[in-house]
Parts: sequence; C-alpha cells; structure tokens
Amino acid sequence: MEIIDLRSDTVTLPTSAMREAIYHAPLGDDVFGEDPTVNRLEEMAAELTGKEAALLVPSGTMANLVCALTHCARGEEVILGKRSHMFINEAGGVSALGGIHPHLIPNQPDGTMLLQEIEDAIRGDNLHYPRTRLICLENTHNQCYGSPLTAVYTGSVVALAKHRGLSTHLDGARIFNAAVALGVDVKELTRGIDSVSFCLSKGLAAPVGSMVCGSRAFIAEARRNRKVLGGGMRQVGVIAAAGIVALEEMVDRLAEDHANARRLAEGIAQIPGLSIDLARVQTNIIYFDLESDRLAADEFLSRLDKKGIKLLRTGSSRFRMVTHHGISSAEIDTVLTVLGAVIKRVAQLQS
Ligand SMILES: *Cc1c(COP(=O)(O)O)cnc(C)c1O
Repeated sequence: MEIIDLRSDTVTLPTSAMREAIYHAPLGDDVFGEDPTVNRLEEMAAELTGKEAALLVPSGTMANLVCALTHCARGEEVILGKRSHMFINEAGGVSALGGIHPHLIPNQPDGTMLLQEIEDAIRGDNLHYPRTRLICLENTHNQCYGSPLTAVYTGSVVALAKHRGLSTHLDGARIFNAAVALGVDVKELTRGIDSVSFCLSKGLAAPVGSMVCGSRAFIAEARRNRKVLGGGMRQVGVIAAAGIVALEEMVDRLAEDHANARRLAEGIAQIPGLSIDLARVQTNIIYFDLESDRLAADEFLSRLDKKGIKLLRTGSSRFRMVTHHGISSAEIDTVLTVLGAVIKRVAQLQS
C-alpha cells in the first residue's frame, strides 16, 4: 500500500540531485574550517539572509539553542511566544543547558506577539528581576497554522528591541515558506534581526541540517557554543552538499506545497463533521478539527492509518497535516476521498 505521510515536512527524502551531490562533494575537516562544501553552504546561507556569516548545525533545535546561548548569559531572560517551538518543542534546552529564563507572552492567532505585550515584558532595572536580553520570533509560526510573519511586523519588533537595547533571534525553521507565501525576498524578513536559524531538512528536503546566520562576531561565538554542545562535525560536506542543492533547487517549488495545502483545506471544509479555518491557511501547514460526536479521534486516526494516510494529532480533536515535496496533487485528491469516505461510513453505520 502506498503511504501518504502528512505528519510533517521533516519526512521528505533527499532528491537524486542531493544524493549525487553528496557522492561528489569535496570534503575536509570542518572543525579546522577546511571543508570546502560546508564553507560554500555557509556563504550561501549568509548571503540569502543578508548576514555576514553562517554556521551549519545538525538540527533546528541546536540552531536555536546555540543562538540563545550566544545571546544570553545564565539568569538572563528571553521573551518567547507561549506557542513557540523554542518553548514547547525543544525539551526546555534554553533553561536546561543555558540557565536562561523564559518570559512567555501570548501568541496571537497569526503567530505574532502584541508589541505592547513585548514592551510590558521587558524588565526594568531592579535587582529582584532577571535581566531581559533577547526577543525571539518564529516565522512561519508552526503552531499558529504555519502563518508567515510580515516584514513590517518583524521590522517593528526589531525597532522596539533596538530602542530597548535588546537582541533579536528569528526561529526561521520555515523562513523560505514565509518568503514564498508573501512573495518577498528572505532578506526582507530577516532585516535587522541579530540571529536567524532555518532548517534545510523540512520543506527543502535535505536529509539533515540547519543554518545559523548572523554577524561575523556572533557566528564566531556561536561556533564555540556549537562545539560546547558537541555539534562540531568533521567531513560534514556530505551534509552540506545536500543543503546546497536544497537552497538552489528546492525553494521556489514550495509554492506547490502551499497550493496543495490550500486545496486540501478547501476539500476538508466541504466535509461535514470536519471543520477548518480556511482564512488561516497560507503556507504548508493546516490544522482541522473533528466535530463528529460519533467518531472518536483515535478511531479516526486508525481508520486513516489503515488506508495509508498518516497525520498528526495535536489536541483532543485537532489534527495537523503538512504538505511537502513527497506529496503530489493527485495524492491530495486521494486524501480528500478517503477522509470523506471515513466520515460518511460512520454516519451511515449509525443512522
Ligand atoms: C522543526 C522546527 C524546529 C526544530 O528543528 P529540528 O531540526 O527538528 O530540531 C525549530 N523551530 C520550528 C518552528 C520548527 O518547526
């Protein structure tokens, strides 16, 4: 049976161009700075995000952690969205390993945080308080429907941070999805931000790797922190080679994933018993709710699983689907047909 895996864009497999590039990549010891393929990828990433330098790390989680460690000393505070990946999904790394204190403020449905709430969260000079050091944004916002944050919004947070003498970090795991969805250059979404992380291993389909981008001085310090975390790797051009192909060949096609997500969402909106907020669908991540009182969420998942369709359950009756390079538009039709049939069958059995 063919499996249609919509759990995440992390399930994408490397393309044949990537496998080819991995095979032929010139290699060296990257801890000595001597892997030419890594050096080339780092230059490309810096150029694309409009920063002076970049660093290859094994994962998005390590990218965010390296940045937090580079910005903040122990006991200092980071302003984070309550629904941010850094707060929810990174095993508490900033506090566990950095002694950094998260100050949470709500994310709006579009993934932003209100400027006033950011402002209010910034600590005054008082020996009772931790010192605020860093503000983090996430673009696209994973838990907020994959919403893209605009350049205007990002710019306003950067201005606020600069005014208050704070640093900014952008968790841009899917920053290329944001740029494609908004029709802007990535540089517009990273302008003025002190550090940016992004993933090669999600929609861009590389097997491993994330990038950290920032000033030359920031990246030099981040390189030390990567070493502290055990992320200094040797002939890692084998990873970087796929990353170069990802940046060269896999960015523009993200528009296909967005179109597929849109079609999937529109189809789901037509199925009685499923509900979705269509206006929120802008990139490759959709969330929908099962509103049938006749079908339990577990049962729904297992019926889909038997038909080869995998999705992620993210709440008591809420599910996530992510479109990606491994999903064709024909497969979107299949998913919609199966979803409709599963719901209809339940209605028939019980009426
Ligand atoms: C996936 C993701 C990460 C972490 O990436 P990993 O490579 O899985 O560690 C960080 N931030 C966001 C928003 C993500 O979606």
